[in-house]
Amino acid sequence: MKKNITLKGISASVGIALGPIFIIENEKPLEVIKQKCSSVEVEIDKLTSSLSATQAKVLGLKSAMANTLSSEELELYDAYLEILKDPELKANTIDYIKEEKCNVDFALQQITSVYIYDLEALDDPYLRARAEDIRMLNRMLVNIIQGRVEPEIVLTSPSILVAESLSTNQLAAINAKQILGVVTAKGGKTDHIAILLKSMGIPALVGMGKAISTLKKESYLIIDCNQGMLLVNPIQEIVLQYELLKEKQFLDFERQIKFSQSKATTLSGKELSVCANVGDIEDMQKAFQFGADGVGLFRTEMCFLESKNFPTEESHFQKYTSILKEFPKALHTIRLLDFGSDKPLVYLKNKIEENPALGSRALRLGFEYYKELLKPQLRALLRLSQQFNLQLLCPMIADIEDLLEIKEKINLEFHQLINEGFEIRKIPSIGIMVEIPNIILQPQAVAKKADFFSFGTNDLAQFLMAADRTNDRVTHYLPRAKESLLFLIENFTKVAHEEGKKVSVCGELASDEECLSTFIRIGIDSLSMPPNLIPGIKEAIRNSP
Ligand code: PEP
Ligand code: MG
Repeated sequence: MKKNITLKGISASVGIALGPIFIIENEKPLEVIKQKCSSVEVEIDKLTSSLSATQAKVLGLKSAMANTLSSEELELYDAYLEILKDPELKANTIDYIKEEKCNVDFALQQITSVYIYDLEALDDPYLRARAEDIRMLNRMLVNIIQGRVEPEIVLTSPSILVAESLSTNQLAAINAKQILGVVTAKGGKTDHIAILLKSMGIPALVGMGKAISTLKKESYLIIDCNQGMLLVNPIQEIVLQYELLKEKQFLDFERQIKFSQSKATTLSGKELSVCANVGDIEDMQKAFQFGADGVGLFRTEMCFLESKNFPTEESHFQKYTSILKEFPKALHTIRLLDFGSDKPLVYLKNKIEENPALGSRALRLGFEYYKELLKPQLRALLRLSQQFNLQLLCPMIADIEDLLEIKEKINLEFHQLINEGFEIRKIPSIGIMVEIPNIILQPQAVAKKADFFSFGTNDLAQFLMAADRTNDRVTHYLPRAKESLLFLIENFTKVAHEEGKKVSVCGELASDEECLSTFIRIGIDSLSMPPNLIPGIKEAIRNSP
């Protein structure tokens, strides 16, 4: 008799999947033994040819995924190519071969393990996940050097894949149409593989740990990403319930999307804007497609993180232009730089801090490295304000002093641009991202000084609960801040409205349907959320009293 079990995991994607299991056996560990080489030149030649062969392989994987992924997502393969072309990787490996007079696969293994060690020591889960990319590329290189072929994964019928971990090249080699869902023991939400699965619309649970070793070849699984749950061999009644739920979610979305281009008004006639949170071209396209009433939060961190050196004014200008033109008529709320010291920029040579969430991050870094970081961004945005309707959102503002400082800098750059002959009519509205408790505790003073406000409830919750939002051991505290958040939003909104200023919510709380009646009652002006949630929230507003 099969046993009915429920296991917890981390939802790395959305939706529900039901189907038979397909277990991917663990990749065999590489066997790399140090040996004296007879010719250093021969080993260096092997390195050069394995690097080019791996590059060709990565290009092949990229074209295999070309019909499945957007052009932005395909850039992942360009990132792999960059690692493979990195002159430092090659030079360090050659130095190692020469010094140790050893075999190239051993040298490569040693050099990449230093990179992996450094990346895994970082606090930022996004950068830690890059270690997995290097591990995968090292495996591809060593396989070529040793003439080893990885066993093929052949999926002949639609199944849920279960693996210790899944690499992006394993994924590319499987027929995506046959993948109903993915479950892995390792991994987190920000791994490349998780990002790809989400954009391919494949339900996925990661970080399941040892629990997956209990799964058997003949199991039937249900992935429930809403609850971060894996149901193993559920009884027929549960299978039926989930089949209905899956069908319902599909039909709901089809219906909601039909009406999402028009404004959402409650039954009693109150209008509430539903805007999009975006970070790249794809998000912006979805914002337009799913009927966003504007862009409530444009996270500009990507432009800084993607760059290898301080981004220039021109590169900011080009990057934002290419994204904004996907939704040219919208009001775009553009957030100024907001990366933390836990997301170090290589070119900043930034010190790793003890408590990065409370450290020199966001505008604090912008003030510290004004010329290199903030100035080019401000100038690019002021120039862009001629072409697009934008307002500037300032993150991590702790008090009036911070606000005055950023306003002064914007004013300065504006006049400088005018002197240089740019035609900019006026300075865009300047708003505060309400995410540091101190700023809400002086509502009268603050409401007079900024043009608009947007509640960043993700950071605000972490500061209210003294629980780091990136630390898995304490993140369960964050949902418990809900009542306090609503209380603070209500009090602050009252004062801001007396001053004639608009208030928005752009953190996770914005799409929490349980909070919707409070937002409507207190007259929040807009809610901003991931684009795919907009049609559902608009429908919920229309059904509200
Ligand atoms: C927030 O803090 O609530 C927010 C929306 O910004 P981020 O999640 O990018 O910090
Ligand atoms: Mg924030």
